[in-house]
Amino acid sequence: MSLILVLNSGSSSIKFQLVDPTQHATDTPFASGLVEQIGEPMGQVTLKFDGQKFTTEAPIPDHSAGLDMAFALMGEHGCGPKDVEIEAVGHRVVHGGQIFSQPELITDEIVEWIRGLIPLAPLHNPANISGIEVAREMLPSIPHVAVFDTGFFHAMPPAAALYAIENETAGRYGVRRYGFHGTSHEYVSQHVPSLLGKDPSKVNQITLHLGNGASAAAIRHGEPVDTSMGMTPLAGLVMGTRSGDIDPGIIFHLYREAGMSIDEIDNLLNKRSGVKGIAGVNDFRTLREMIHNEDQDAWLAYNVYIHQLRRFIGSYMVALGRIDAITFTAGVGENDRFVRADALADLENFGIQIDPERNAAPNDGPREISTDKSQIKVFVVPTNEELAIARKAKQIADNL
Ligand code: ADP
Repeated sequence: MSLILVLNSGSSSIKFQLVDPTQHATDTPFASGLVEQIGEPMGQVTLKFDGQKFTTEAPIPDHSAGLDMAFALMGEHGCGPKDVEIEAVGHRVVHGGQIFSQPELITDEIVEWIRGLIPLAPLHNPANISGIEVAREMLPSIPHVAVFDTGFFHAMPPAAALYAIENETAGRYGVRRYGFHGTSHEYVSQHVPSLLGKDPSKVNQITLHLGNGASAAAIRHGEPVDTSMGMTPLAGLVMGTRSGDIDPGIIFHLYREAGMSIDEIDNLLNKRSGVKGIAGVNDFRTLREMIHNEDQDAWLAYNVYIHQLRRFIGSYMVALGRIDAITFTAGVGENDRFVRADALADLENFGIQIDPERNAAPNDGPREISTDKSQIKVFVVPTNEELAIARKAKQIADNL
């Protein structure tokens, strides 16, 4: 069996998976793990392999040391790069700007292009580049492939991609809607036509990726026509800790009246807002418990979340004109039946009817949760971004 190593490098962490690209979305990957607290006094590497969990703790000064430790731990348990055949490495890259629409075989030149996009994703792209550089050094003889979170949305129509901001300024600074979670929206939306038994070129659909980060996409005949995230992943739906869409005037107000710096406002909107900002927690399992115990803030946070979600669903139904399906995915979308029911409650007049029993039935595969009568079908399709990245990386490696 040949495997693909998928790396998702953050500023202080590296998520890794060894994936068999022929596995199903809900199968456990061959091996997976996490390098955490890079640059902190004490770091940790966790590996899940063969039904077991292994951990090492030690200071991890940088990404290079982190990947080294991950490979060492994998080697100790018989799934390191010397023990298994790794055909290619797929790297998740957050921002591909207007340059990248497709996965790319990584060369020195591609790395420089990704570096050039750092101003658009100052938190994400530098970490992605560190991961790429370290992995290329350690595994120099296999292909490395960059898969961009923005890629799927690259050709969105200008009416959806452009902001109504002075042309010259917007153009000079790359101010436009790029969209994120593209790998997930693409993967999930490609699954839907077979569930409908329809030709993909005839399907109009809305996909709702509701995890810690959350985004919605409107997709016509396989091509995205709108999405809720914007120039950055802060826009759109209410998320675990991110505000989603707000009046931009709030930023000026907080700067002028509260004396907050731009960095403080950035931190507020990205880390201390969303469901957490209102309820104090961002995990929907805890939120649900709090609602059950009649916590008013939790109830309010939930209602703000659902209200915003319904606004996007409604606007995308109009944008598409006619839709065949609405699909929920990611941690919240796959697991929280209340969110699914409330997001689409009372829409019978629009041809949408959730079946409470189907919605509540325990099942972790792709499934329909609408009634047989519902004109618009509602599905849950588990996403698996690592598997999607692995398949894309394999495709490029196979064509070399
Ligand atoms: P990320 O954006 O970090 O990739 P995920 O798609 O893994 O996020 O979603 C993580 C979130 O999913 C958690 O923060 C939690 O709110 C939610 N979640 C996970 N499992 C459940 C569950 N069984 N019920 C409700 N919500 C869940």
